[in-house]
Amino acid sequence: MLSKFGSETKILAGGMSLIPMMKLRFASPEHVIDINGIRELEYIREDSGSLLIGSLTRHHTLESSKLVQQEVPLLSETASVIGDPQVRNLGTIGGSLVHCDPGGDLGAAILALRGELTILGAKGERRLKIDDFQLDMFSSALEAQEILTQVSVPVPGRRSGQSYQKLERKAGDFATAGVAVQISLDEHGIFQSAGIGLTALGPKNLRAKKAESALVGNEPSDKLIAEAAATAAEEAEPSKDPLRGSAEYKRDMARVLAQRALKAAISRAMGAEQERKRN
Ligand SMILES: Cc1cc2nc3c(=O)[nH]c(=O)nc-3n(C[C@H](O)[C@H](O)[C@H](O)COP(=O)(O)OP(=O)(O)OC[C@H]3O[C@@H](n4cnc5c(N)ncnc54)[C@H](O)[C@@H]3O)c2cc1C
Repeated sequence: MLSKFGSETKILAGGMSLIPMMKLRFASPEHVIDINGIRELEYIREDSGSLLIGSLTRHHTLESSKLVQQEVPLLSETASVIGDPQVRNLGTIGGSLVHCDPGGDLGAAILALRGELTILGAKGERRLKIDDFQLDMFSSALEAQEILTQVSVPVPGRRSGQSYQKLERKAGDFATAGVAVQISLDEHGIFQSAGIGLTALGPKNLRAKKAESALVGNEPSDKLIAEAAATAAEEAEPSKDPLRGSAEYKRDMARVLAQRALKAAISRAMGAEQERKRN
């Protein structure tokens, strides 16, 4: 149908972003293709060390899935703070990523997790890293006749911890700033890998690359965490907006949230290790 109707066509998933865009006349598609009947796009399963999530999976399903809570809790934690229950009941992971809103919470979490997206079009299937998918504000690498079908994230090892910290003006609001963290420690307690994704701190979700590099190969300490959080804040590109505050305020909140997220993730990684030893 995408091939038949051409570029003035929009996919409708949860409609939580598309319908407001249409009401405001930011989008005026000639055709809307409702994919809600394609049940094959709504699944969560584990396969060969990865969690595979169909693009039509609702935020609420991510929030409440026992498999997600156990294997990649960052996704449940992040989904639980998106909008309000109505938005979470309808909104989908696919719609959230394709929409490329810099204030999208899941985009930052998928960055931290180094997720990969599967895209299907008339010419076949291709896979893209999330870093190569989010191009700019409200702009993804998806071509006109393509559909996002799946999001996959590696299931982190046993000495891993994650956290999503979001600052919002009131319950249900988009983030003033948000930081998603995924870290893994080796058997000596040294950072083996680190992923840090930023929400509402730039024209798109950003990866705090320098902060990630500063952690890997080092032992967790308050000093290192404070330095990495400050580096993440320097990497942010916040802009002032009349609703949520100045660029300086948001940058400082990025530092505070990064520090909190790192501390929570490290403590969870250590807790997971102690739990493993007890059993
Ligand atoms: C009141 C309110 C509060 C919100 N608060 C938050 C918040 O705090 N945090 C947050 O992250 N988000 C928030 N959102 C946005 C919400 O998360 C949306 O659900 C999400 O951005 C879009 O998902 P959707 O399934 O509704 O997509 P839709 O609105 O149906 O589609 C969005 C875009 O993606 C395209 N699309 C959808 N699915 C696919 C697919 N599989 N393949 C190709 N293209 C596709 C559509 O064509 C459209 O361009 C809020 C929305 C509302 C209305």
